[in-house]
Amino acid sequence: MAASEVYPPLLTNRHPDAPAGADLDKCVHCGLCLNACPTYRELGLEMDSPRGRIYQMVQVATGQMEPGESYRQHMGLCLACRGCETACPSGVPYGRLIEAARAELEAITPQPFWQRLFRNAIFSHVLTSPAWMRLLGSGLYVYEASGLRKAVHASGILKYFGKLGAIEPLAPSAEAPFFFRHIGRTFPAEGTRRYRVALLAGCIANVFFARLNEATVRVLQKNGCEVVIPEDQGCCGALHVHAGVKGQAQELARRNIDGILEGGYDAIITNAAGCGSTLKEYDHLLHSDAAYKDKAKRWVSLLKDVNEFLAGIELNQDMRPLNLVVTYQDSCHLAHGQKIRTAPRQLLQAIPGVELREMALSDLCCGSAGIYNVVHADMAASILEKKMPMANVTGASVIATANPGCMLQLRAGVARHGQDQRVVHVVELLDEAYSSVSKRV
Ligand code: SF4
Ligand code: SF4
Repeated sequence: MAASEVYPPLLTNRHPDAPAGADLDKCVHCGLCLNACPTYRELGLEMDSPRGRIYQMVQVATGQMEPGESYRQHMGLCLACRGCETACPSGVPYGRLIEAARAELEAITPQPFWQRLFRNAIFSHVLTSPAWMRLLGSGLYVYEASGLRKAVHASGILKYFGKLGAIEPLAPSAEAPFFFRHIGRTFPAEGTRRYRVALLAGCIANVFFARLNEATVRVLQKNGCEVVIPEDQGCCGALHVHAGVKGQAQELARRNIDGILEGGYDAIITNAAGCGSTLKEYDHLLHSDAAYKDKAKRWVSLLKDVNEFLAGIELNQDMRPLNLVVTYQDSCHLAHGQKIRTAPRQLLQAIPGVELREMALSDLCCGSAGIYNVVHADMAASILEKKMPMANVTGASVIATANPGCMLQLRAGVARHGQDQRVVHVVELLDEAYSSVSKRV
């Protein structure tokens, strides 16, 4: 029996961004997703499980419950990791549901002034403007390079700054020189050119993962790619989508499509699984935009995570051995969002001397989830605390993953509960293996 046959009818005056009845309908409330849900595993509360959250969405959609503070909290505590999507035998598109629930909340619930101000600064300025990002990165770079950050940590003063003090150690180091200097450049393929690809440099990554982006360029060059860093690219809108700021996410998607789609590329590549998941869903994001829906479909057909791309071509095997034991933490938005699990493992195993040791529950979220570890620092820390013993027990000296956000969270995990493991992106290990013959960008 379809779930809608047991629910009262959906309200007819719902917001256009609200969770779709057809999506809600797919959940048969079997509960098979519960054990895959990090917040349910932590709290044991039905309201903080996928099934419970879907039930609350149904109650709101049918007018049996107001979308008030309790609803906002339960929707907010979800990591949007989509582990439940993988576990669900009924094909419930949970990622789409939670994004819609948040977009609806964003549209219908007034927020306090200071919260609106803060969100507006982050979503409309910092993430979308290279100038703001440079300013923020330069400030953080000076804070760190001057020794001030070390002094602040050593002084113990952070404990007096409440939440801000708790999240400060999670702040990444700004990596000067920033990757912005490469925007607009084209890097030639090494050897015969086999592909022409566009690399998306991200927004935050230009400042905080500049070396990862450079490693990605080198690895692609090594594999016969001419790598273009398109001038007209910007933030992908993933954080906007997750926070329910849909209109701005749509604008960013249109901007990226306009700036990149017609560049004659064989692939458009990202090294950030969290971004990739949203970038691959531009067709859904723009499905009601007549001018862009077909372009968005073409965009999606070209979009590739870097692991997926490299595992799908004939990989250059000219690597030096690394002699490392490595364990792999699945990035949720690669494993659950994009259904890519084999590719990163295949690449790690292609590196001579790398022994891949699987960790238990490698596809259970590490607690990073975009800015979740900042907004819900306690829950994120608790999830991470359970994750680290599973990494430790493998005995691996390296934890590889496929998303910058996961790298930061896992580094915090190593600092708090780890065994001095090195946390890297898969591409960085490939870059090391190619390094004896790499030309630095
Ligand atoms: S989301 Fe899927 S697995 Fe979870 S209760 Fe609904 S049907 Fe079952
Ligand atoms: S997305 Fe993750 S945190 Fe949210 S309900 Fe699903 S499994 Fe739980």
